[in-house]
Amino acid sequence: MTPDIKPLVAGNWKMNGARDQLDQLALMSRGLDDELAAKVESAVCPPATLIYVATTLSEDTPLIVGAQDCHAEASGAHTGDISAEMIADCLGELCIVGHSERRTDHGETDASVLAKTVACWRAGLTAIVCIGETEAQYDAGEAEAVLSRQLAASVPDGAKETNTIIAYEPVWAIGTGKTPSPDDIASIHALLRDRLVERFGGPGERMRILYGGSVKPGNAAEILSILNVDGALVGGASLKAEDFLAICEVYRDV
Ligand code: PEP
Repeated sequence: MTPDIKPLVAGNWKMNGARDQLDQLALMSRGLDDELAAKVESAVCPPATLIYVATTLSEDTPLIVGAQDCHAEASGAHTGDISAEMIADCLGELCIVGHSERRTDHGETDASVLAKTVACWRAGLTAIVCIGETEAQYDAGEAEAVLSRQLAASVPDGAKETNTIIAYEPVWAIGTGKTPSPDDIASIHALLRDRLVERFGGPGERMRILYGGSVKPGNAAEILSILNVDGALVGGASLKAEDFLAICEVYRDV
């Protein structure tokens, strides 16, 4: 947590979920009472096929709906892609960009992630910019250098707390059940905060830095209590309303 920053728990459903998964979304929005919603923002990023119906279902509830990726262009000959404008048209408010699965599976680079972030801003979306080191880089002691480089090259000038959220996701912790030690998470998030403040000043102090990688109800309280961890990006555990809400509940009494 960081004093004066409202945390965010964002679920990334990845390529999971047909229409029946929306039952879980309805349960999530019902579980977010006003008291909890005052303490933590909550969001779900379903597959693109479900965005519009998800925003319709969560209308007038505290649950925010986002997307998992967008193209940098607003429209055009890009078969299979969706634009930030299309996400906004479906009433989505957030968009994850630069998730390590997209960097690996689709060859996305820091430059393309930066362009997608600009596209999010153009459409009025908040970008969740993901960065993270691989296991080999972590083992070689290169995490700080890699993350500093990714942060500098993936986040455009003009980033501020209202348009950008950073997600630190060690690649080796995603979907593996492994997490860095609390001390490691604390020192990486402190480093990221320093880099944001050096570059952006006051907005860098206020930007949220999420941790992602095997967050679940059993470890959420410990991870979310770390200074400069301003919420979580949650994959697997965001598919079940019970688990997602249990992670949000960590903030009820803090
Ligand atoms: C993710 O893919 O963003 C993620 C954090 O996944 P998981 O929580 O399943 O490790």
